Amino acid sequence: MEIPEVIICVDCGQKAHRMVDEPEFGFCAGDWVAYRCSGCGDRWDMEVAGDEINPPQGNS
Ligand SMILES: [Zn+2]
Repeated sequence: MEIPEVIICVDCGQKAHRMVDEPEFGFCAGDWVAYRCSGCGDRWDMEVAGDEINPPQGNS
């Protein structure tokens, strides 16, 4: 399962970097992966679903 290290912040369009390292055996469906935007500083929590991640859920 490929979980990106960087996503694009949907608020400001800057890069948001993953805050956690990939576990030894990889991410599983249902795991939550946090990203921190380098532009606006927002945190994005992404749920791993199947072989991809769901769109970011805003926290504002
Ligand atoms: Zn941002």
